[in-house]
Amino acid sequence: MPDNAINDCDIIVYGASSVHTLDSGAARATVPERLLRPSVQGNEAAALGGGKVLALGTESELRARYRPRQTLDAGGGIVAPAFLDAHTHPAFAGDRADEFEWRSEGRSYLEIAARGGGILSSVRALRQASEEQLTEAVAGHFRRMQAHGTAACEAKSGYGLSTAGELKSLRAIAAAAARTGMQVFPTFLGAHALPEEHEGHPDRYLDLLCAETLPAVREAGLARAADVYIEGHAFDLRRARLYLERARELGFALRVHAEQFENLGGARLAAELGAECADHLEALDPAGIEALAASRKTFAGLLPCAPHFLRQATDAPARQLIQAGVPYFVATDFNPGTSYTPSIPEAIHFARIRLRLSALEALAGATSNAAASLGVADRKGRIAPGYDADLVVLDLPSIEHLGYAFGENPVKHLIAMGKILF
Ligand SMILES: [Zn+2]
Repeated sequence: MPDNAINDCDIIVYGASSVHTLDSGAARATVPERLLRPSVQGNEAAALGGGKVLALGTESELRARYRPRQTLDAGGGIVAPAFLDAHTHPAFAGDRADEFEWRSEGRSYLEIAARGGGILSSVRALRQASEEQLTEAVAGHFRRMQAHGTAACEAKSGYGLSTAGELKSLRAIAAAAARTGMQVFPTFLGAHALPEEHEGHPDRYLDLLCAETLPAVREAGLARAADVYIEGHAFDLRRARLYLERARELGFALRVHAEQFENLGGARLAAELGAECADHLEALDPAGIEALAASRKTFAGLLPCAPHFLRQATDAPARQLIQAGVPYFVATDFNPGTSYTPSIPEAIHFARIRLRLSALEALAGATSNAAASLGVADRKGRIAPGYDADLVVLDLPSIEHLGYAFGENPVKHLIAMGKILF
C-alpha cells in the first residue's frame, strides 16, 4: 500500500490544547524525573482504531492519513491517558453512612471496628446480598468511577471473608466489568479482616485461606493478585508472611496493605517477597523507605484520600519515597468505610495538597505508574501507537490545573478501549 493511502480508522480526537502522552521512560517507572516530559509539541489530535492508538499528530496530518468513522472534538481541553485506579475496593453492598456519623461524633476507626462497625459491617451486608444484587452494586461503583475518568481499575474482593463470599465477590467484579466496560485487574483480599465466626481464632481463618480459599480462587481464575491487610487489628507480620508465601506459591502476584496506622514492617515484607506494591504507608519508617528503594520493584501505593477521610495527622512520606527512587502510584482506595470517593481527580487533589506532588507527578501516578505496578506498562497508561485507546479529555486550561480545583470533575470525555463512553 502506498504511503499516501488514506486508511479507515474508528475515531479521530481533535482540537486538544495538548496531548499528554507520558511517553518518556514511563515503562521503567523507577525514576520519576524520567516520567515528567509528557507533552509532544504539535500533538493536538489522535487517531484510534481497533481499540488501540494508531497515531498522534496535528489534525490535518491525521486527516490526510485516516478517514474516521467518528470524530470527537476535545474543545480545547487536555487529552491525557485515561486514569487507571490501582487500589479500589468496589465489591461491597450498601454503604457505611451510619458509621460516618459516628466518626463525626469523634469515634476512631479502631473504636468503630470494636463496636461491630468497620469492615465487618460490610461483610454482613455482602453476605446478605444476592450475587445479582452485588453485581449491580459493583456496576454502580464502576459507573461512578468511569464518570470521573477511570477506564481501568484494580478491584479487590475482601468483604466476603469466606470461600463462598469471596468467590461471589470476584464473580460480581467480573460480571460488573462486562456490564459496564470497566477494565478490571481483580485482586483477592480474603486476608482483609478476621470474620466474626473465627473471632479469637486467627490461625484457624489463616489455615482456611491457605488451604481452601486461595486455591479455590486460583482454580476459578478469578484474581490475578492476592492482597493482605497487615495491621495490628488485622493480620500480623507472621501470618501475613505465611499467607503471601502460599499465594506466591500458587502463582498470584502480591499486593499489600502496609503501615496505615502502625509500622509493623509490612513494606519490608512486601519488598522481600517481591510484591507489586505496598500501599498506604502513612506510618512508614526510614528502614521501610530503604527496603522499598532497594527492591527496585515494589511500588509505593499512595492513597491520600484515606488519611483525609480518617482525619489522620500523618501522611505517607511521598517526597522521601520519590527522592529515594521508589516507584509510586496514586489511587483512590475507593471503599465504603475509609475513602468513599470513586474520583481519581479528587485523589490527585489530595496527592498535590497532602503529599506535595506536582500535577505531572500525580498524573503519572494515576496512569503510567499505575499501569507499571500492574505489569501492563507495555499497553496501558500512556498515549502511544500500539497502546490501548484509553483517553480522557480534561476541561482544564493547562496541566498545572490538575488537582488545583477540588470538588469539581474536570473529565469531559472518556474513551475506553477505543469506545467513547461519554
Ligand atoms: Zn485498601
